[in-house]
Amino acid sequence: METLAYLRLKETIQDTFDKQKEQAIRLRSSNAEERLVKLKKLKEWILTHKDAIREALYQDFRKPAAEVDMTEIYVVLAEINHALKDLKKWMKDEPVSTPLSLLGTSSYVQYEPKGVCLIIAPWNYPFNLMVGPLVSAIAAGNTAILKPSEMTPHTARLLVQMVGDLFYPAEVAIFEGEVEVSTMLLNLPFDHIFFTGSPQVGKIVMRAAAEHLTSVTLELGGKSPAIIDASANIADAAGKIVYGKFVNCGQTCIAPDYLLVHESKIAPLIDAMKEQIDKMYNADDKGIHASADYARIVNEKHFDRLNEMLNDVQAKGGQVIKGGMVNRADRYMEPTLVLNPSDDSQIMQEEIFGPILPIKTYQNIQEAIDLINQKPKPLALYVFSQEKECSQEVLEKTSAGGALINDCVLHFLHPELPFGGVNNSGIGKAHGYFGFKAFSNEKGVMKQRTGLTATKLLHPPYGAKAKRIIDTMIKYL
Ligand code: NAD
Repeated sequence: METLAYLRLKETIQDTFDKQKEQAIRLRSSNAEERLVKLKKLKEWILTHKDAIREALYQDFRKPAAEVDMTEIYVVLAEINHALKDLKKWMKDEPVSTPLSLLGTSSYVQYEPKGVCLIIAPWNYPFNLMVGPLVSAIAAGNTAILKPSEMTPHTARLLVQMVGDLFYPAEVAIFEGEVEVSTMLLNLPFDHIFFTGSPQVGKIVMRAAAEHLTSVTLELGGKSPAIIDASANIADAAGKIVYGKFVNCGQTCIAPDYLLVHESKIAPLIDAMKEQIDKMYNADDKGIHASADYARIVNEKHFDRLNEMLNDVQAKGGQVIKGGMVNRADRYMEPTLVLNPSDDSQIMQEEIFGPILPIKTYQNIQEAIDLINQKPKPLALYVFSQEKECSQEVLEKTSAGGALINDCVLHFLHPELPFGGVNNSGIGKAHGYFGFKAFSNEKGVMKQRTGLTATKLLHPPYGAKAKRIIDTMIKYL
C-alpha cells in the first residue's frame, strides 16, 4: 500500500523533475562560462569540506584518510580541473569533411546537452562515483537528479548538504533512499541515466530506461583478471597487486578479482605478496586489524556474503595460504590469499568485491586466455609481463572494458582514457571528454546552400540525366 510519506515523496520527485525539465531547456543554450562557474563552486566546496568528506567515509566503513584523499577527493578534483581546462574545446562544434555527392554543403557535429539526467551511485566509492559523473553532467550543460547509495549513509548525508549548499533543485537535486526511491525515479522519462553499480541492478535500470527510450551509461562490475606471466618482475608485480586488491578493503570495481599465474612463478609470487601484505598493513607487528590503513567491509550483509564465499572455497578444496581471519562485530576480514580455488566455487563464479584473492596457475598463455574468454567480459584486465608479445597477445585475444600492463587500477586516474565496461561490465564510457560525450547528444548538422544544388538534379522525374549522375556517384563513392 502506498503510504502518505510515499505519495508525498513521489509528488516532490515529480515536481523537481518538472522544474528541471524547464530548466534543462534554458540550459541548452548555456555557454562554457556559466558551466565553469558551477564547476569552480563545486571545486571550492570540496576543498573546504575535505575533513567532512574524510569523516563521513571513516564513519561509513573506516576508510583511511589517505585513501579518501587519493580515491575520493583527488580523482574528483582532477575531473573538475580537466573540465575547467578543456571544456571550451569539448563544446566547440566539430567540422567534418564533405563528400563529393554533397558538394556545396558544409557539416559539423554539435554537442547539445541531453537534458534532465539521473545519476545513481554505488556505495564503494560513494563520493567519487556520485560527484565524478555530476561534473560531466554539468560540463555538458544538463540538470541532474542524484541518488546516492543507502549503504553509506554518512556520505549520502554529506552529499545532500553539498547539493543544498551549491545548487537550486531545478538544476541539481538529490534524493536519498533505497530501492523504492530508485524505482520512483526510474519511472520518470529522463533524457539520460548514468548508473554505477552491479550488473544485476544495471539490467533493472536498462529495462526501466527502455520504457521511455532513455539513453543509458551503465558502469558495472565483474571479475577482472590479472595474468602474471613467466617473464613478469615478481617483486614489482606483488606490491602493485597487493595495493590494487586491498585498497578500500578490496571493495573496488576494478580490483584484480583473481590471479592467473604462470606455474614457474607461483612460489616466488606468493612469498612476495605475503611479504607485501605484512609490509603495507602490519609493519609494526600489531596485527592487520590494528592498522589505520586498512578499511572495513561496508556492512554485515556484505561481510556474511564474503565469509560464505571463503567457507565455500575451502570446502571445495581451495587453500587459504595467507589471512583468513575474520571478525563480524568489527566487519573485519584479513587480506586473504586462496590458492587453487575450484572453478565451481562461488569465488570463481561471482564478483568477489572484498579482500579475498584467489590464485590459479596456468602452463601456457592460451589456457589463461581461454579461462578469461569463458567468463563474461570484465571491466578491467591486467597483464604483468616483460614480454611485449605476451601482453599484445592477451589484449588481442580477449575483450575487456579497459586494460593495464604491469600495474593495476591506475588507469582509472588517466583523464584522457575512456573508463567503462563492455557488455556485462558496462555500456558507455565515463571520464573527461568521454564523460562529457556521455551526457551530450552528438547532433549532426548540415548546412545546404539555396538555389541550384547538386542534389536537386536528382529530384523526379528521373530522366537519363539523373541516372547518369547516380551512376557517377556510385562509381566514385
Ligand atoms: P548495486 O547495484 O547494489 O546498487 C547501486 C545503486 O543502485 C544504489 O544506489 C542502490 O540503491 C540502487 N539499487 C539497488 N537495487 C536497486 C533496484 N532493484 N532498483 C533500482 N535501484 C537499485 O551496487 P553496489 O552494491 O552499490 O555496488 C557494487 C557494484 O557496483 C559492483 O558490482 C561493482 O563492480 C560495481 N561498481 C562499478 C563501478 C564502475 O565504475 N564500473 C564502480 C563501482 C562499483
